[in-house]
Amino acid sequence: LYAAKAAGRGRCELDCAGAEDPDQELARDLASALAFGEVVVHLQPIVELCSGTVVGVEALARWTHSRRGPVPPDVFIGVAERHGLIGALGEQVLLAACTQLAALHRDTGRRLRLGVNVSGLELSDPGYPARMAAVLEETGWPAGEVIVEVTESLLEADSAVAVAALHTLRAQGIRVALDDFGTGYSSFSRLDTLPVDVLKVDSSFIATTTSSVRRAQMLRSIVGLAQALGMDVVAEGVETAEHDELLRGMGCTFGQGWLYGRPMPLAQLAATLATRPLV
Ligand code: C2E
Ligand code: CA
Ligand code: CA
Ligand code: CA
Repeated sequence: LYAAKAAGRGRCELDCAGAEDPDQELARDLASALAFGEVVVHLQPIVELCSGTVVGVEALARWTHSRRGPVPPDVFIGVAERHGLIGALGEQVLLAACTQLAALHRDTGRRLRLGVNVSGLELSDPGYPARMAAVLEETGWPAGEVIVEVTESLLEADSAVAVAALHTLRAQGIRVALDDFGTGYSSFSRLDTLPVDVLKVDSSFIATTTSSVRRAQMLRSIVGLAQALGMDVVAEGVETAEHDELLRGMGCTFGQGWLYGRPMPLAQLAATLATRPLV
């Protein structure tokens, strides 16, 4: 009787916890998905606009929940951050992406730059640069072909540890991209002091550019500014030939978006590469 009561109480507590915090259940499932290797990586092409050549990829995490189906990264990344899982998730994504790109290089001779998203929480862990170095060592993937993508919000938050980590990563040969540029509030003011090599202009920016002359002028200025500061520019969210043409006209160097390819598994990426020119 006591055992039955305890079991009943346990179930009730679980139900109540689930109702109070829907995050909790998803976090438990995500933890088990990570343990079973069910969080996978897709790779989205990044092209050099003048030639159309794929020069790199961005690694994007994908999770298909056994009952709910695909969970958007914007949902499960937040869950991972709130429940202490982001370190494990980031490491799995990095390891998978490096392993896959090393295999692609072995099989086809193509060496693509790898962009990986790094959350502020990961970067605030002082052990991050060493763990990154260990994964590169394990997979044989060169640091010079890795670009960590960080968002402005991370750098706006007064996080000296995170900024120090970026300097350490750079000393290891890894480059830094400022992600979602144009959506934050202090974008311009910190561009001269932050250790940034690449500017990734947010897709919301491109989306409005074709319909607004003023937005197009702003984008042109951002491209010029980045280049004056010695940074590469990647335009995100390139969906149409019109976007592509506009960006090339502005002298923007790189683009990423559905026009060139969705995030996809390695096998599909390899097939896509086989049909594209190699410069
Ligand atoms: P993000 O870093 O800005 O990644 C680009 C997002 O734009 C991706 O969304 C991608 O699928 C989407 N995208 C690409 N091309 C186009 C396009 O032409 N049009 C439109 N409308 N969207 C496009 P996704 O895969 O849903 O990822 C959402 C966010 O989740 C990412 O935004 C990133 O912040 C985060 N994320 C994904 N994987 C990871 C990861 O492994 N670690 C961390 N820390 N964050 C991740
Ligand atoms: Ca990104
Ligand atoms: Ca982005
Ligand atoms: Ca984003």
